[in-house]
Amino acid sequence: MNETRLEVRGLTKHFPITAGMFRGKVIGHVQAVDDVSFSIDEGETLSLVGESGCGKTTISNLILLLHEPTDGGIFFRGKPLSGISVRERQEYAREVQVVFQDPYGALNPRMRVADIVGEPMDIHGYSAKEKRTAVLDALKAVDLLEGSDSKYPHEFSGGQRQRIGIARALTMNPELIVLDEPVSNLDVSIRSQILNLLKDLQEERGIAYLLISHDMASVEYMSNRIGVMYLGRLVEIGKSEDLIADPLHPYTATLVSAATPTGRTPTWQLPILGEVPSPLDLPKGCAFNTRCPYAMPVCSEVRPEYTEVEAGRKVACHLYPDHINSIDKSLTQSNILDDPVQ
Ligand code: SF4
Repeated sequence: MNETRLEVRGLTKHFPITAGMFRGKVIGHVQAVDDVSFSIDEGETLSLVGESGCGKTTISNLILLLHEPTDGGIFFRGKPLSGISVRERQEYAREVQVVFQDPYGALNPRMRVADIVGEPMDIHGYSAKEKRTAVLDALKAVDLLEGSDSKYPHEFSGGQRQRIGIARALTMNPELIVLDEPVSNLDVSIRSQILNLLKDLQEERGIAYLLISHDMASVEYMSNRIGVMYLGRLVEIGKSEDLIADPLHPYTATLVSAATPTGRTPTWQLPILGEVPSPLDLPKGCAFNTRCPYAMPVCSEVRPEYTEVEAGRKVACHLYPDHINSIDKSLTQSNILDDPVQ
């Protein structure tokens, strides 16, 4: 059985909203992440999907220790990250790496590739010889040509620059890599090459990936499991193939319907309705109730708890377990507008 690399339990992050002359007065909070729990095993890819502002990037920043949680905890190989020493923090920063979305902005244009890729090793005090060996190994692992180490970022294409970003993450021999929209700035033709490279590296090294993305096609290709986020909350989580073929939550159904990644027809297709509400003024009860054609009176009053539909498959929706079999799953944009299901 594979070891659990990362676990988050009840993870919550609220950002203060400030006002006043020096922005010193706190007038409210934005619930960027609200009571989110999941785990990622060795060699596994868990993807977090959802529209902008759903909280997936805040979760990645919490895991990268760029923010402090308001509540809940993050555990790496079973150990809590709260209150860790400076030395433990450095070790964690070695074991958990990140690949950023923008291969153009993420690389310092004034540095040679060897220095960019070896930079994390400088921070962790490796010798020049160790650094040289690791840099050349990493560049080889991402299929960059010999001699690439002495060049500058502008001499490479977008896909090659993303390979440099991946090489930089690999030099530290990480156990977990956060992939923050790693292919969304690349041409479609290049995307599959980068995704295949990431899959190969995972297979060879057993790295766990947390993939943050809004591109369902990439997510389906890469993931073992998918978590769907809506306005800070994880509304559904399950195995990738199950969640895409048979979405449980109405919001998941809208995401899958909008993407239909492999041309398959999911069991539940639903058009996207309306706009995402402001995170400054979240709807009461289920945050999706203002856009959900199946909303019932309870939905605008009571926040739904999770129902475990099967082992590892959870959904936060009042349709479960009693109402799901009595709803019409073949709604279209026009029949919702003609006859709202409220
Ligand atoms: Fe729709 Fe209610 Fe389920 Fe929310 S809890 S997704 S409003 S049915």
